[in-house]
Amino acid sequence: PIQGEKYQFQTEVSRLMSIVINSLYKTPEIFLRELISNGSDALDKIRFRSLTDPAALGSNPDLKVTIAVHKDQRIVTITDTGVGMTKEDLQKNLGTIAKSGTSEFLETMSGDKADMDLIGKFGVGFYSVFLVADKVRVTSKNNDDDQYIWESTAVDDFTIAKDPAGNTLGRGTQIAIHLKEDQDQYLDDKRLQQLVTKYSEFINFPIYIRRTKTKTVEPEATKESENKDSDDSEEAVVEEAKDEESKDKSAPVTVTYEEDDLMNSNKPIWIRDPKTITQTEYDEFYPVLAREPGASPMAYSHFRAEGEVEFRSIMYVPKEAPKDLFQRLDNTHANVKLYVKRVFITDDSKEFLPRWLSFLKVVVDAEDAPLNVSRETVQSNKSIKSISKHLIKKFFDLLKQLSQDEKKYAAFIKEYGTSLKLGVLEDGANMRKIARFIRYHSSHSDDYTSLEAYVSRMKKGQKHIFFFTGSSVDEIKQSPFVESLLARGYEVLYMHDTVDEIVLTHLANFEGKPFQNVAKSDLKLGDEEENKESEKELEEKFLPLLDWIKATLLNDIDKVRVSKRLTTSPAALVASDFGWTANMERLMEGQAKA
Ligand code: ADP
Ligand code: MG
Repeated sequence: PIQGEKYQFQTEVSRLMSIVINSLYKTPEIFLRELISNGSDALDKIRFRSLTDPAALGSNPDLKVTIAVHKDQRIVTITDTGVGMTKEDLQKNLGTIAKSGTSEFLETMSGDKADMDLIGKFGVGFYSVFLVADKVRVTSKNNDDDQYIWESTAVDDFTIAKDPAGNTLGRGTQIAIHLKEDQDQYLDDKRLQQLVTKYSEFINFPIYIRRTKTKTVEPEATKESENKDSDDSEEAVVEEAKDEESKDKSAPVTVTYEEDDLMNSNKPIWIRDPKTITQTEYDEFYPVLAREPGASPMAYSHFRAEGEVEFRSIMYVPKEAPKDLFQRLDNTHANVKLYVKRVFITDDSKEFLPRWLSFLKVVVDAEDAPLNVSRETVQSNKSIKSISKHLIKKFFDLLKQLSQDEKKYAAFIKEYGTSLKLGVLEDGANMRKIARFIRYHSSHSDDYTSLEAYVSRMKKGQKHIFFFTGSSVDEIKQSPFVESLLARGYEVLYMHDTVDEIVLTHLANFEGKPFQNVAKSDLKLGDEEENKESEKELEEKFLPLLDWIKATLLNDIDKVRVSKRLTTSPAALVASDFGWTANMERLMEGQAKA
């Protein structure tokens, strides 16, 4: 340990530390997110200062964060070239809680599980480092002071001393994390890379991981590579030449060198003005967001929301529906990624979008932590509801825009028609709105039709929207019921999706026009007054036949009637008003088997 002045942590800090340690022991990995965020904040500060004082950047204009592993010492260092901290800053910032609100929040914490989870997701700050560290040393150099060291083992005190090594950092802060016995995973640079990609890939400043690499070079080339490297490395240094015993000057030698690999080359395009972003940029960002290399979007909406919560968002409709879309519905759907100021917070919240919209891929970046340590749960839920409302509204805007071009919209319906129908079943509040965007096959043409278009073509006096269910359009077209309606000039919707019938039951009507299954016996066409008389006559005439059919099919049917619904087919089986239609029976049978 360093020799220096000893300080006690403020009581609130000790309290916060124990809460952090107790609530986050399952996800210690977030320490990296917190430390990189602090580095990024410090870089923001110095950049901002340099706007009015260009000299502030001094001899260290390179703004970046570098992570390095020292395996033998079991230390990970995170170094930034940010604003740095003076001795006083170290004492204040890493020993007290400056933020108003946090203390009050701590007061209200009752050890409630929900509060704990909440803290875990949002900025928990510097002290999370003690999830993985048994000792931490912060070395910092601010323009206004010499370089100082802050060191602590987290118990209740910390030490500050002037760095005997001098002002080696130039400017900025280095956090040296001495890992606990059981936290060796963070010595693995692949693991660190994975975490940077997960939490910090959209940080505005470059984040590097320093890696030790080896390569084989010809002896003649060795000298040259000290100055100018042969591959794309910027900072390669020949540290040592192995094979030194080999006296053969012409044999290749293996050299070890260090190289900083850039971890975050993806740019957070959502923070830019949509007018400056090209279609290609939107297309290329999609696979990054969806973590699906090579995938492309069908459509997107890029917007900024103000009000209760200020956030930016890009919402994508994938070109193809996820294969497991409907299996996934029961579980979580990680389709909304929440960031706060470019830092990833969570993608496992089901609160942002209803299940039927789980095919969307959305990034939400809030300017202010909508859920913050200093706020309460109720307010957080309000923020989430407000974000959710905005997202749903924007989805409908996008749908409207997509549906302007019916040809293109057909591609959307092919992939997501069933999702919309699920929306009718599950989202009572939006059911009527969704119904406008559903498309069906119909006898009108081979193209899809909307219910609105069907209604606009209804015959004079027609009161119902006629539909028939079956397993395919071809099967439906064969139906004698359909044939009869078509012969009379009515349009029939062809329903061949298993959920169709339930959806229509839910809707009951569209613009006040009730749905009518043409397979039901109470079918009213609106023109039947015509010959009630002749109907009676016919019934008398065919009475012997009716009696005979009834006697023959006694166990299978309910009633036999003379009907005018058929044109060329001699007879048809109809479902009674209260009975199941053939399609419904198929559905129930399928469920019984499953
Ligand atoms: P927050 O970042 O929300 O303020 P933290 O606990 O993460 O809370 O950090 C506490 C304070 O310590 C920061 O506000 C900042 O003043 C200071 N700090 C932490 N890390 C750094 C750093 N790398 N460079 C400069 N200042 C830092
Ligand atoms: Mg912080």
